[in-house]
Amino acid sequence: MVILDGKKTSNDLKDEIAIAVAKRRSEGKKIPHLAAILVGTDGASMTYVNSKVKSCEKVGFNSTLIDLPEDTTEDQLLNEIDDLNKDNDIDGFIVQLPLPKQIDEQKVLMAVDPNKDVDGFHPVNVGKMTLDLPTFLPATPYGIMELLKRYKVETSGKNVVVIGRSHIVGRPMSILLSQKRDVGNATVTLVHSRTKNLEEITKEADIIVAALGKAEFLTGDMVKDGVTIIDVGITRVKDDSKKRGYRLAGDVDFESVSKKAGFITPVPGGVGPMTIAMLLKNTLLACENRD
Ligand code: NAD
Repeated sequence: MVILDGKKTSNDLKDEIAIAVAKRRSEGKKIPHLAAILVGTDGASMTYVNSKVKSCEKVGFNSTLIDLPEDTTEDQLLNEIDDLNKDNDIDGFIVQLPLPKQIDEQKVLMAVDPNKDVDGFHPVNVGKMTLDLPTFLPATPYGIMELLKRYKVETSGKNVVVIGRSHIVGRPMSILLSQKRDVGNATVTLVHSRTKNLEEITKEADIIVAALGKAEFLTGDMVKDGVTIIDVGITRVKDDSKKRGYRLAGDVDFESVSKKAGFITPVPGGVGPMTIAMLLKNTLLACENRD
């Protein structure tokens, strides 16, 4: 069994990005600048945004964190987005999800300039991705593709089962892996909460991408020998033995599934760090696009 080490791979990627930034600096070109908008004080969101900003420092990017209160109105947020769209120094920005109830997420995502949409969530970029045109790929699926590529996991002609149909993970993952590309050409089945006989489907899979957000859902008896497992889930599970009172659990029961898997991502240290690295890669691309 081989661990798909997202921590190491993301560090390799960050080193590569840092070299590209240093080269830009020496050539007198613009330094990439990523901005992040955080609305409210959700613990997990704050952790994600802070590590995104910290990663910017590591690769030599400029970064800006815009921290807005929980009661921010939709109009106020749309104004902030408008400012970032117009700001010539900002190459790309993200609005950390989820947003408070009073704000319409779709309206917000639509307001981001597609050329600065380094999360790849704007309909224009989703459309381009679907049509196989160059664009910003959503960071989590992009990170998974990169991990499969760097570990040379064969996807062509394989049976892939993606669990979960969210707009940010499951759906784009199913599209990308079915496309004619280096990591792709797979026969993809997308399963979700209404799927019947899920276990019969997962047992046939050569590769499973679990992105449903239910701790340790996929167990050893649901997979076949030699399967490749990509565990996207991150759930906080109460654990009094930990100082912070919880542990992070994936969607996969690592203990039982790893005994059968050929390749498997751990949680933490698998898909999570890759997501951040790909956000940086998209920001570098956004900056290069503006050269
Ligand atoms: P979501 O809640 O938007 O979607 C979950 C999907 O799972 C839905 O499509 C639903 O139909 C499906 N589902 C729910 N229960 C199911 C069941 N019993 N059987 C089959 N399908 C079922 O979730 P999301 O935003 O895609 O996130 C999924 C998980 O991945 C969460 O734990 C989230 O925290 C994590 N996540 C991790 C990263 C990362 O960088 N590692 C990035 C994004 C999300």
